[in-house]
Amino acid sequence: MLLEPRETFEALRREFRWKIPNDFNIGRVVADDWAAKHPERVCLQHFSPDGRHLSMTYGELSSQSSALAEALTELGVFRGDRVALLMPQCFETFIAHVAIYKMGAITLPLALLFGEEALEYRLRDAGARVIVTNSFGLQRLKAIKARLPALQTVISVDGPGPDVIGFRSMIEGRSGMFDIVESGPDTPALMIYTSGTTGPPKGALHGHRVLAGHIPGFQLAHDFLPQPDDKIWTPSDWAWAGGLLNALLPALMLGVPVVSSPAQKFDPHMAFRIMAEMKVRNAFIPPTALRLLKSVEKPREAYDLVLRSIGSAGESLGRETYEWVKTALGIVPNEFYGQTECNFVLSSAAHLGISKGGFIGKAVPGHEVAIIDAEGRELPAGETGQVAIKRPDPVMFLGYWNNDKATAEKFVGDWMKTGDLGRQDEEGYVQFFGRDDDVITSSGYRIGPAEIEDCLIGHPAVRLAAVIGKPDVLRTEIVKAFVVLQDGYTAQPALSAEIRDWVKNRLSMHEYPREVEFVTELPLTTSGKVIRRLLRDQEIAKAS
Ligand code: ATP
Ligand code: MG
Repeated sequence: MLLEPRETFEALRREFRWKIPNDFNIGRVVADDWAAKHPERVCLQHFSPDGRHLSMTYGELSSQSSALAEALTELGVFRGDRVALLMPQCFETFIAHVAIYKMGAITLPLALLFGEEALEYRLRDAGARVIVTNSFGLQRLKAIKARLPALQTVISVDGPGPDVIGFRSMIEGRSGMFDIVESGPDTPALMIYTSGTTGPPKGALHGHRVLAGHIPGFQLAHDFLPQPDDKIWTPSDWAWAGGLLNALLPALMLGVPVVSSPAQKFDPHMAFRIMAEMKVRNAFIPPTALRLLKSVEKPREAYDLVLRSIGSAGESLGRETYEWVKTALGIVPNEFYGQTECNFVLSSAAHLGISKGGFIGKAVPGHEVAIIDAEGRELPAGETGQVAIKRPDPVMFLGYWNNDKATAEKFVGDWMKTGDLGRQDEEGYVQFFGRDDDVITSSGYRIGPAEIEDCLIGHPAVRLAAVIGKPDVLRTEIVKAFVVLQDGYTAQPALSAEIRDWVKNRLSMHEYPREVEFVTELPLTTSGKVIRRLLRDQEIAKAS
């Protein structure tokens, strides 16, 4: 499934064939295969703010994950069991991931930022039997544990306690040998809940093949990674498809070391410090985080950066942010696209000349992506419709957990509907229009928020922006913008008028926000996406 370098993107697409072995196991390809060849090679490096960074080798990863797999087997964990990982970016998180894949069990990555309700919902829905966490997670768990009868075993990386097993003690003194269970591309391996941007999150179950399916896109977004000295970092939580599947797992499968960093609210200065100090060459940074980096002036002078590739996805990158990255960081960012159910199917590849500000990119080799209508017919270039991916595709989920109805509804014929609207240009570049639910209907027009938000952040006073349709008797909806200002600007009516004019002069008349509200922050998912649904609900509540 590795891309063999070709001169053109078209040649790559034409000649690419999936070759996923029948015994494909994520644990084997990200750990044991490398350990057999290069046990001393570094796989993870942990950034520590005090400068004492630690490293782990593939050899250590392989033996410690085998030891943990053996210990979990003794505890009665079997194939198909769900093991929750409520953990930050750290070595133990990854050791646990690998152990679970080797056992044929299913990882359930959970973000430490989840509140009690969010945790309980996911743990219960998934019927998790075991959870691996730390002392912070244990606190969260306290209030809900009694309501989760399936959850039998709690393991903490911060040591044992009442009804809690210590992670280290499970590993110590073991041989570090474990026979990987029989598994193949379709054996369930991991389950990630969607971000819940549009409604209750759904558990998307994936087979081991999902990792193989990410490789071509990952290589393109990072300029034929692996290259000498490549090293990747992402501020995204590894519990999100973004952190896990756009960075951690594919990098380690390709032998590229991953930098981990302590969980904290995204801090632009810290992000640059991590990238400089750890000599990060490749980064996956979602659009919202990239926009926040703008507050650091002249980053290339302030920090000693050796970055060579930046991939970005999860939301629309937009032309403004694309241009800023080019100028301020000297790198053409590669936007890509996917969703928890079917990830990394569109991408830019700047080194092959596939890059256009304001457009996501093209269908990655190995994936068939089209714009379709409600009946599943492919639409011609220029027409707006649903972004869809054709099955079979290794990166496509096996189904939603315990929700066959939702799974069935996700398809029309062999097309998997993404719920996102987009259009394709004559050259095959896909442009994001908006999520189905976020599209605004105003005076008979269908308006996508992405373009307006992009235009708004082009205004010097605007740091972040979110655009929604506010219910309106006359026009069905009006365009309303929520704006977070850059430091040094004050919220006042004159600025609001200026911002409205800014959009009016740049986009068409019907797209400018009739209302601009200044806010100090936007509601974000734990993966850093704007939850427009909450802003809409607020407006509806205010009106009634
Ligand atoms: P839920 O499905 O629970 O509402 P979610 O869709 O936000 O949550 P994810 O699977 O994490 O959950 O996100 C995938 C979505 O993110 C895509 O369907 C799309 O709306 C958006 N997205 C991802 N990449 C891009 C991109 N490059 N441009 C625009 N939107 C993107
Ligand atoms: Mg979704």
